[in-house]
Amino acid sequence: MKDQNSTYEDWKKRFPRCFERKGGWMAFSLEYNAGWNGIVEELLGKIEGHLAEKQALGLLDPDCGFQINQIKEKFGTLRFYVSGADDTIFGFIDEAERKTANTCEMCGNSGALYTKRGKFWLRTFCAAHAEEYDYEPYNSEAANEDTE
Ligand SMILES: [Zn+2]
Repeated sequence: MKDQNSTYEDWKKRFPRCFERKGGWMAFSLEYNAGWNGIVEELLGKIEGHLAEKQALGLLDPDCGFQINQIKEKFGTLRFYVSGADDTIFGFIDEAERKTANTCEMCGNSGALYTKRGKFWLRTFCAAHAEEYDYEPYNSEAANEDTE
């Protein structure tokens, strides 16, 4: 799973404003599986476009600019940690993180929240990948009562 180095190298070229390093970085990698790449790529495209617009208008402050600190999976959804973001970018991020809750992290097909048998690990998988990795549907009675 993972091994997304070539994807990351490709994205650094295509979305230079997103991946410009401003110091103080740990080694950066994509800490989730490739099923979410479509969602993350769409997000990066929106952020890149937004940053380019601001730059064209002279509104991009080079000293406290945008940077991505970490992109990872946590508790079954995408976490996209940034600094120097504005409300527009936070809106893009919220939308992408919500999409991953319904998208299999392995293959990008329609997914749902699953839990590893006997553990508290949560992942968003399609039915086939849940079976492959021995996960069962996550069942939250309280959450169901809230929505029905
Ligand atoms: Zn899948």
